[in-house]
Amino acid sequence: MEKTPFKAESKRLLDMMIHSIYSNREIFLRELISNASDAIDKIYYKALSDSSLVFDKENYYIKVVPDKPARTLTILDTGIGMTKEELENNLGVIAQSGSLAFKNENEAKDGHDIIGQFGVGFYSAFMVADVVTVISRALGSETAFKWESSGVDGYTIVPAEKDTVGTEIVLKIKESTEDENYDDYLDEYRLRSIIKKYSDFIRYPIKMDVTQHRPKDGSEGEFEEYREEQTMNSMVPIWRRNKNELTDEDYENFYMEKHYGFDKPLQHLHISVDGAVRYNAILYIPEKQPFDYYTKEYEKGLELYSNGVLIMSKAPDLLPDYYSFVKGMVDSEDLSLNISREILQQDKQLQLIAKNIKSKITSQLQRMLKDDRDKYETFYKAFGTQLKYGVYSDFGSNKDVLQDLLMFYSSKEKKMVTLDEYVSRMPEDQKYIYYASGGTYERIEKLPQTELVADKGYEILYFIEDVDEFAIKMLMTYKEKEFKSVSSGDLGIEADDSQEQTEQEAHENQALFEEMRKILSDKVKDVRVSKRLKNHPVCLTADGEITIEMEKVLQAMPNNQNVKAEKVLEINVNHGVFQSLKSAFERDAEKLGLYTNLLYNQALLIEGLPIEDPVDFTNDICKIML
Ligand code: ADP
Repeated sequence: MEKTPFKAESKRLLDMMIHSIYSNREIFLRELISNASDAIDKIYYKALSDSSLVFDKENYYIKVVPDKPARTLTILDTGIGMTKEELENNLGVIAQSGSLAFKNENEAKDGHDIIGQFGVGFYSAFMVADVVTVISRALGSETAFKWESSGVDGYTIVPAEKDTVGTEIVLKIKESTEDENYDDYLDEYRLRSIIKKYSDFIRYPIKMDVTQHRPKDGSEGEFEEYREEQTMNSMVPIWRRNKNELTDEDYENFYMEKHYGFDKPLQHLHISVDGAVRYNAILYIPEKQPFDYYTKEYEKGLELYSNGVLIMSKAPDLLPDYYSFVKGMVDSEDLSLNISREILQQDKQLQLIAKNIKSKITSQLQRMLKDDRDKYETFYKAFGTQLKYGVYSDFGSNKDVLQDLLMFYSSKEKKMVTLDEYVSRMPEDQKYIYYASGGTYERIEKLPQTELVADKGYEILYFIEDVDEFAIKMLMTYKEKEFKSVSSGDLGIEADDSQEQTEQEAHENQALFEEMRKILSDKVKDVRVSKRLKNHPVCLTADGEITIEMEKVLQAMPNNQNVKAEKVLEINVNHGVFQSLKSAFERDAEKLGLYTNLLYNQALLIEGLPIEDPVDFTNDICKIML
């Protein structure tokens, strides 16, 4: 029979599954059982609004049937089933296959992170089976269809016989090899333990016929075998269990099974609230950023259950944007099942739950910061940017919640520090919280603007992310201390003797500065004597609210409004070049023009800004060499 080829991405993924070196093959069972459970959920959910459907709990179950002689393992369910089209669409192509293209090939090589990230559940069957056969009859349909595939060369779909609604998945288990004992997946005992491990909380019974022994009638001491159908899972959802009985591994398994992330969660949070609002929740803080986290494809939200039944797979209103990285689920008895998404948004109970969840996450993060600094820094590396966006957005309305969770790199400590740590170390004479912005820590370290503040012995926070300065502008102060860029006009540092001299130089050389200002008239607002430079000849700073770093960020935005910083060229009058400037001013107007432009361009380069005309610049350098 002619085979239908898989779509390109499906084929790649399938290939990965078949040749996977993924060590954890047993999870295929978790995936198939989870699909079966979802399929039953769909009938349950339909029955709520369709009176012709009666959901009689007795009739809904999942069954696992190993057959050693035939080398098959069958997973069947009494769920909603699939039509011919659904078999085509659901099993012929991968959900979200677009995201696969996004993925770097190397990263995806062993299929390890792919499994969790793209919900490729069904395909994992090919990790243990040579042939996968799916026989399914959809609810409301009289006919059934059989989908079959033995791997990358495609699949077939033909009509089939099936008496009842639901799906049957038959896996032709691979022959064992030196490295892998596939016989395990035909063994009742092993299967039971895999089900217990990953699928214990599934709401519907997972049945299996097991071999039991009983004393043989009429004979002493002799036993006979008999077969008995047993339910393998306790059916109590993990979130209803007692925390004390659960291990980290249980929480990790739940995270994996739910495809919340492809990493190991950094921290879980099990909440049971029984008060004005009642709910159970299991929340996770992932360890790594999802690959699409900072794209618009990323959707925040928690799974929402009403009394154990899933009613929404991503309820966005349960999480504030700044905690959009949190994964997990919420179950509440107080929510109506038939509620529509629109109404849910305005639901008072839900709002209360969201508020409660928000404060639980906040205190969890605070605790982590206090008790497990390393863990917190791992977290902050992945999601700190989001917290800073949180400070900045909504007109700063969340800054009180978030400011204590922020961290920045410190010039003195050479590591991340909190604002509280910074402020508590401030010497008495230090007025401000100083920061310096730049592309990398190494670059900031060398910025001329930091010289005076660093020389004073004050700590400087290094800002390397676009959002940093914007967030700080929103905070304005921390514990009543104002933030101050090392590039800003007034650094609040008392003048010493050398500075008095500086003032004098400025006064005496007014005409020179006036001339330089004219030369750079369209480029800078002012040319001044620097009070902050020690060793460098020049630097650029900005007057007003917009710093040079902010200008860079704003200029890079798509709807760039051409906002510019008011740039000031600062000259170090204690540097040798100043003498050259002075003598050029007295004797050679052309040379002054040359020097001024050179110094300005150097200052741009130090700031990491492009020089307007690199050819002019190199010509200028040649001129002084000749
Ligand atoms: P996911 O479950 O993440 O969507 P899968 O590849 O595991 O991805 O399954 C693809 C789709 O196939 C499911 O979304 C579902 O619509 C359908 N499906 C899989 N197994 C079953 C089943 N046992 N009964 C009904 N539909 C199923």
